[in-house]
Amino acid sequence: MHGYTAANDILSRDVRALRGVGEAKAKALAALGIPKVMDLAYYVPKAYEDRTTYRDIAGLEEGRKYLFKATVKALPPPTVHGAGLTVYRAVVEDVTGSAECVWFNQRYAASRLSLGKAYAFYGECDGSSGKRRVRRPEVFGADEDVTGMYPVYGLTEGITQNGLRALTKGLMARLVEDGYASLPKAVCERYGLAGLLESIKAMHWPATMEEALKARRRLAFEEFFYMQLALAGHKKSYVGGHAGVCGTAKRTPPDLADFIGSLPFRLTEAQRRTIGEVCSDMAGSDIMNRLVQGDVGSGKTAVAAAAAFVAARNGFQSAYMAPMGILAAQHLRTFTAYLGPFGIKVGLLVGDMDARSRREALRGLASGETAVAVGTHALIQGGVEFKNLGLVVADEQHKFGVGQRAGLYGKGAAPDLMVMTATPIPRTMALAVYGDMDVSVMDGMPPGRTPVDTYCVGGALRERVYAFIRKNVGEGRQAFVVCPFVEEPGEGEGKSVLEYGKELAGGALAGLRVDTVHGRMRQSEKDSAMMRFAEGETDVLVSSTVVEVGVDVPNASLMVVEGAERFGLSQLHQLRGRVGRGAHKSWCVLITDDKGGESARRMDAICSTGDGFKVAEMDLELRGAGEFFGLRQHGDMGFRVADIWRDAATLGEAQECAFDVMEGRLPLSAEDVMVIEEQLKAMPEGYRSLVIG
Ligand code: ADP
Ligand code: MG
Repeated sequence: MHGYTAANDILSRDVRALRGVGEAKAKALAALGIPKVMDLAYYVPKAYEDRTTYRDIAGLEEGRKYLFKATVKALPPPTVHGAGLTVYRAVVEDVTGSAECVWFNQRYAASRLSLGKAYAFYGECDGSSGKRRVRRPEVFGADEDVTGMYPVYGLTEGITQNGLRALTKGLMARLVEDGYASLPKAVCERYGLAGLLESIKAMHWPATMEEALKARRRLAFEEFFYMQLALAGHKKSYVGGHAGVCGTAKRTPPDLADFIGSLPFRLTEAQRRTIGEVCSDMAGSDIMNRLVQGDVGSGKTAVAAAAAFVAARNGFQSAYMAPMGILAAQHLRTFTAYLGPFGIKVGLLVGDMDARSRREALRGLASGETAVAVGTHALIQGGVEFKNLGLVVADEQHKFGVGQRAGLYGKGAAPDLMVMTATPIPRTMALAVYGDMDVSVMDGMPPGRTPVDTYCVGGALRERVYAFIRKNVGEGRQAFVVCPFVEEPGEGEGKSVLEYGKELAGGALAGLRVDTVHGRMRQSEKDSAMMRFAEGETDVLVSSTVVEVGVDVPNASLMVVEGAERFGLSQLHQLRGRVGRGAHKSWCVLITDDKGGESARRMDAICSTGDGFKVAEMDLELRGAGEFFGLRQHGDMGFRVADIWRDAATLGEAQECAFDVMEGRLPLSAEDVMVIEEQLKAMPEGYRSLVIG
């Protein structure tokens, strides 16, 4: 992965070991995430400039950058525009035509030039003024060899593009081919992958774009390959039950049928199937590691409650982690209603409890008196002791990835784990992120639901939207109004949720019972506002995005989203999922004045489909996987080069390859096996603890 031999020991050094890097530059590099020379070697260019051939001036097209050779025909005196701006010009020509080069405040560029002499130029052509102009070209001697592909790096203050290029160029020249193998030979041969060092060099300074792409594929392949091996190894370690992590078999209790019969509805086929899968996981002697995917409203809560029921009947505690405190309160009510009648005690543990309640809650968990703990991820953090935790349910926690799972098992406990998500994850992505988990898909919705009609309107129609709220409330329904405004007056720019709520209550929605919920309220205040809304004591709930996920009010038929352009697609889909949960016809109205391309595409997408899978796929396309999963693109997954969305095809290949290796379909030499072992040993913390223990 990041190997080298003594010959390339420079890679292990601090960047200050490179010529030309002093304190200031080292600081700038550190800001780019490059403290070590190795980090520089893996600093992936954002793009490349094609300077492989000299162009004819006549062929320069507007808006693109070109390399061309030309002779200086005229050097008009610079023009001074006020104190801050001096414009330098040069008229240049080749046999096909002429162009004017323009520099702003860059005396040194223009002053290099002599009349009648030839130079090479590289810059962007701008034809907007009718003439062919080239803005701020770089200037080189006519006989300097400057052709090639140039990397374009992400920059920060204190370091220039050319400065960084000089550093990588110098480093690449210095690294010597040492025969170090980071991938097994058999793998390289089968997939046509070049050596590590060769690929790193080609990633920075490729001869052609094709070479750059090949290098990227090679480097991404390696990262995916080892991640997949680690995931497969992790799975094997507990599925095989021989790595110390195994669960305690939990018998499916005979009164599970009574529990299911006591729920206020008949289970859907998907719920039944998923509960069956969960029960058989839990009944095995290996721990459960299951991902439950089901769109918003598909009824995942009942599945979680059934799992908690099974755990409790076997004498184990469960921890249910909601994505945020405000939802924990709602789930506390639901779980209490479902499980309470069976003598199973449900308790709450969230971040902002007062000291006494918290002490009480902790005591209940430690003594085992609380059988089901509802809270946020704080539940599995330090200082919280369970008597015998047997099940963890992580609801909508995209970040509950490999690392967190490792942390959970690392504590010595081996609870069953169920991760629930309403964000349907396309298959390749699911394999990449949750490759070590079994997957249940909850297709099909509880009966009696009507699709939610979604519309996008401009702010000019706001009055009509208010009238529509009145109409719905007049028919006995309720409405959500979600706005991305600041939580409290005076906190940053613009209106606050509170002010907006008051404005509506006193104006457009006067006479209706309007309430407000926002993130700065105390937990108890949020809870009681939510409770009043859920019980129909308020008509309209104006909220900030803290109520984004999971609040269940079947009587609500209208979701109005203000400033809809500020939300991601999946977020909008989640919000829309708050309505259409009862028997009533429901609507989602998105208000935005942003008609820009990116935002318009999102609005079109969300209005065009109600299918969560389609929304997720469009979201991935528009945003990329990093943001989608809430991961930093590289860091969190231990990748330096690979991007699970951009390199999806490579991910597929690496997955296939890893499976073939695990299952012996790709024969390896003894040397190949050593290469793999050494690489797995060097993997980042999260993975290492999974594989090596
Ligand atoms: P999600 O999968 O989004 O967590 P919930 O578990 O919150 O969905 O369920 C959404 C709503 O559907 C809740 O009001 C719940 O009571 C109701 N519900 C769940 N299962 C069924 C069912 N089988 N039949 C009818 N309603 C159901
Ligand atoms: Mg839910």
